[in-house]
Amino acid sequence: MSRRRPRVLHVWDFDDTLAHSIEAVSFFAETYPEVPFKAWWHDPAISKIAIEKTRPRFEEWAMVERLPGTHLILTGRNGSAVRHWLKRRRNDRRIGKGVRRIKGVASTSPVSTPRVADLGTAKGKALLLHDLKKGFDEVHIHDDDPRNFEAILAEHPEVIIHGHHPLRVRPNRSRRRRRGRR
Ligand SMILES: [Mg+2]
Repeated sequence: MSRRRPRVLHVWDFDDTLAHSIEAVSFFAETYPEVPFKAWWHDPAISKIAIEKTRPRFEEWAMVERLPGTHLILTGRNGSAVRHWLKRRRNDRRIGKGVRRIKGVASTSPVSTPRVADLGTAKGKALLLHDLKKGFDEVHIHDDDPRNFEAILAEHPEVIIHGHHPLRVRPNRSRRRRRGRR
């Protein structure tokens, strides 16, 4: 009897895992203070403009290229903006090979997936993962936000988590934190 190879799934967060997003969004928030902060992530038109300026994280894209298995993106940002970003980089000299391995984009943004609108990103990701992981024996989650890990592990204790870098301080929260310390 031959043992079949395990089917492996890699689920990648986009913002600040595959791309330097906070940097780009901070730039836009300063340049266009009249646009609400969340519009940079959720508004289909604005999110597409903001994502253009978002630089890839090369180490993570090298992993997408190298790691065997199926690769998906599960993002809190508007899904069409992420698809737009990927489309523009399919032939990129440095990350194109990795980009072409991405088999799909799922989004917890209320605009893209209204049924998870009331859950927030972390719980929305945990819910969508039930469908995404069907048929796979081994699931790896790549993210930068401990809140996402916590919510996902609560519902999917079998997954393997990978935090690629320490959580960056979000511009809107750092202000609150600094004030609280005084
Ligand atoms: Mg993130």
